[in-house]
Amino acid sequence: MDRITSLLLFALLATPAAVPAEPVPAMPHEQPALHALAHAPSETELRATITKLVGFGTRHTLSDTTSATRGIGAARRWVKSRFETISRECGGCIEVVTPSQVFSGKRIPQATEVMDVAAIKRGKRDPDRVIVMTGHLDSRVTDVMNATSDAPGANDDASGVAALIEAARLLSKQDNDATLVFVALSGEEQGLYGGKALADYAVAHGWQVEAQLNNDIVGNSQGQNGVIDNTHVRVFSEGTKSNETAAQADYRRYHGGEVDSPSRNLARYIDRLADSYLPDFRVRMVYRTDRYSRGGDQVPFLEAGFPAVRVTEAHENYTRQHQDLRSGRTDQDRGVHYGDTIDGIDFRYLARVTALNAITMAALSRAPAPPTGVDSKGALATDTTLSWHKMPGAAGYRVHWRDATAAQWQNQRAVGDVDHAVLQDVVIDDWFFGVSSVSADGYESPVVFPGYAGSFERSPAAAASSAGR
Ligand SMILES: [Zn+2]
Repeated sequence: MDRITSLLLFALLATPAAVPAEPVPAMPHEQPALHALAHAPSETELRATITKLVGFGTRHTLSDTTSATRGIGAARRWVKSRFETISRECGGCIEVVTPSQVFSGKRIPQATEVMDVAAIKRGKRDPDRVIVMTGHLDSRVTDVMNATSDAPGANDDASGVAALIEAARLLSKQDNDATLVFVALSGEEQGLYGGKALADYAVAHGWQVEAQLNNDIVGNSQGQNGVIDNTHVRVFSEGTKSNETAAQADYRRYHGGEVDSPSRNLARYIDRLADSYLPDFRVRMVYRTDRYSRGGDQVPFLEAGFPAVRVTEAHENYTRQHQDLRSGRTDQDRGVHYGDTIDGIDFRYLARVTALNAITMAALSRAPAPPTGVDSKGALATDTTLSWHKMPGAAGYRVHWRDATAAQWQNQRAVGDVDHAVLQDVVIDDWFFGVSSVSADGYESPVVFPGYAGSFERSPAAAASSAGR
């Protein structure tokens, strides 16, 4: 034995055996099941749904409800039957319900029943926690009160309905811990009534809505100015909660949180999932509730105190939205095709948007609930202390921090199965903080910013304000 070998042997023998290792903190990791969803949406299925929906002529909220072939009634019965077929194919895993309310208003002159069609796939371990995907079934032409002219609504919003039916079909074949709900809303163009009916239904049934993904206008990849982009989708999120009280707003103005509502951190979560699982597709986060001066069915959910985002294509073509079917005849618009017809849909693009939704719903439903009771302390100290309540199903937690001007979380640390953590030499003044929960199999919740401003829980203030309406 030469000298080096004997030294090595000595070193090996001298190594102390079986020192108890520190437990490895739960960490998020790559999920093959989410990679598989990236290419799962079928363009054939998406095309079949939009073709069918366009075939009902108009799906205006005030259109015929008794015809078997034309109008909103025939369209919603078809969606219901489609959900029932998906449920049969998964051994009855889906329950189909039709939340409805009678509304009247400026765009509904005579009291009319507005009916949504919802597919519910109950969670195995956490059924009261609910992830919702919506699109709207109703369509319109130039005159919002015209309930008889052909209004194909292929992109606005048969594209969203096709995406949620396809997501339901794909996710019906997989396990989910939280409940998944897929809803074709109605009454959107008349004043977001179907979103209101669904938000009321959620409150009445005690749903803890962790996220609503509202998909409205998600199938076109060519903007009105000719720009073509099939690699981006916009995710709109409010910065501060729609229903914060004056006292909560005062606190938030001083301590921060103006860009950290749960809806905004949901948008960050979706953005990260696209980075991880959709190599050719990017989320463009927009720090707004919706497009400028425009609205959508995420708004009634926000007003009810639930986190919600709007998903919309990157470049819209306004000659196709809310237009009578016609060709331009003036010197300015000769040859322009007006109307929301199926030839404006890019099915590959729509499949990508569908994949992003399906991945997000799967990830959220398999992760533990986001931590509650998140708090931060550290004034006049060189360390920052974060604390939170432990969540069922969480095997550990991660703390996150970022520059106060950064759009995305930059620094993370897995801290194990504890309810607080001290970040040494991280000064509270200079960063924004958050906490996520992580399951034993590596699914992570969205990040929760401390205090009321960032909490994913439906707040008492929210409950009070919606009860008062
Ligand atoms: Zn729409």
